[in-house]
Amino acid sequence: MKVSKVLIEQNEIEQKVKELAERINKDYSGEELVIVGILKGAFIVISDLAKQLNVDVTFEFMSIQSYEGTKSTGQIKIDKDLDIDITGKNILIVEDIFDTGLTISHLKNLLESRNPKSIEILCMFIKKDVASEPVDIKYSGFEIGPEFVVGYGLDYEGKYRELPFLGVLS
Ligand code: 5GP
Repeated sequence: MKVSKVLIEQNEIEQKVKELAERINKDYSGEELVIVGILKGAFIVISDLAKQLNVDVTFEFMSIQSYEGTKSTGQIKIDKDLDIDITGKNILIVEDIFDTGLTISHLKNLLESRNPKSIEILCMFIKKDVASEPVDIKYSGFEIGPEFVVGYGLDYEGKYRELPFLGVLS
């Protein structure tokens, strides 16, 4: 397996993160925000985003698994839950990629049951053509095709996360 094509260049990703950060700064102005990052894939977008935020923000992380190799297992497993009580807080879930939507919809339901003040989703890459769960993603990065992608936090068997672009593996 190797990266055969660059799908989204580094500078396009940087520009998109900047735009998303500007929207978040505007939308949460005067509010407290808790960003809930989904490990491991979201660690790069969160660190890029974090440097451009000027709202009252804290960062929390969860670890969830739904994939083995390149195929969805259809199962969700919470490996690490939040360390804090999110009752009455503004939550922004940050996820790397939306495929079937199973991970995000499951997670949103779970966090909603803990009575936050608000809950929204940021997802960097969205696989548009895949039959998916209807989930409202307020902050979306790029729509992509069904190919398996790596880079910008996304891995194949633990590798390629460090690539500053989004690439296709084949
Ligand atoms: P979903 O629950 O939406 O089907 O899957 C979301 C999770 O599957 C993501 O958090 C990610 O870990 C993984 N995933 C889905 N598509 C891809 C892909 O093209 N590349 C990689 N590396 N992971 C993917």
